[in-house]
Amino acid sequence: SFDAFVIAEDNGKPKGSFSSLTPADLPDHEVLVEVAYSTVNYKDGLAASGKAKIARKLPMVAGIDLAGTVVESRSPDWKPGDRVVVNGWGLSETQWGGYSRYQRVKPEWLIRLPDAFTLEQAMGIGTAGYTAALCVDALERWGAVRPGDREVLVTGAAGGVGSVAVALLAKRGYAVTASTGRPETHDYLRSLGAGGFIDRATLLEKGAPLQKERWAGGVDSVGGMTLVNALAQTVWGGAVAACGLAGSADLPGTVLPHILRSVALIGIDSVMAPVDRRASAWARLARDLDPGHLAVMYEVHPFADLPALADRIMAGKIRGRVVLDLTA
Ligand code: NAP
Repeated sequence: SFDAFVIAEDNGKPKGSFSSLTPADLPDHEVLVEVAYSTVNYKDGLAASGKAKIARKLPMVAGIDLAGTVVESRSPDWKPGDRVVVNGWGLSETQWGGYSRYQRVKPEWLIRLPDAFTLEQAMGIGTAGYTAALCVDALERWGAVRPGDREVLVTGAAGGVGSVAVALLAKRGYAVTASTGRPETHDYLRSLGAGGFIDRATLLEKGAPLQKERWAGGVDSVGGMTLVNALAQTVWGGAVAACGLAGSADLPGTVLPHILRSVALIGIDSVMAPVDRRASAWARLARDLDPGHLAVMYEVHPFADLPALADRIMAGKIRGRVVLDLTA
């Protein structure tokens, strides 16, 4: 038997606790993975603390992502010893997730971990970092944003998505301007490659529908007025990749940047992203994310600390990314 963190019904409400499982308890998917690391994201905090109903069926093994090694496979695409990552695909919502020493998953959910990364680093990047890479891929695919051009804006820059986006863009030669509400993170963000800063309060103020053209493009994890201002300040033909709602789920703007400046708002969802997009994002991370930068972005905690970490993330007391060591 092995340990897992399971959400089950307790007096009509979902409640998480450590349980002992056997391989026979796991879903009947083709690939059995020995999980080495997972992460604690905001969504995991909601699920593990019982603050919100994330699982859509119970019992549910929580954890939205995992990194580990294949131990058994009924799929020709995977063999024992393969180092793999799973991000999203409904893990912890509709599918059993990463908070289990072993998990069975569908072959099409797996990404081969690039040699550049250890399993620990893979979860140091986690879903936030992989989403940042999807955003940068989308901007380059749009074609209007090129290294060395005008500034590219990254909002929520000191957060998980933002930090990786700053590092990836800077490595490719973009002039990155970081929007953050925490001036104490400026040195950290400068070390990742940010060349300039804008106070996040400036972007939260309601502005004109079209403002002075400043950004070649942007990566936004904040939403709301911040995203509206980013679009209103983007140059003709530029694009903003939006993936988050850390500030707000609203979009209180106008169509003017889109119809008068051909500005694109590119939506990014990491959960159901197709395999080719995932592989391309991980290849970008392997190529452009400096291991020294990655090392300062996350901390590692033993699996047993999960309940306390969930409470801390709910209280907004966590900085950077949290990796869970399932082997500890
Ligand atoms: P995070 O580490 O908590 O970072 C979010 C950052 O947003 C914070 O560090 C802060 O940046 C900024 N922020 C927070 N509250 C704000 C507010 N009220 N107004 C303005 N800025 C605010 O979270 P994350 O892991 O990077 O995730 C960021 C967002 O992306 C979340 O909404 C998450 O749900 C979403 N996400 C979406 C996908 C997807 O598939 N679409 C995948 C992963 C994450 P500063 O401290 O620098 O100001």
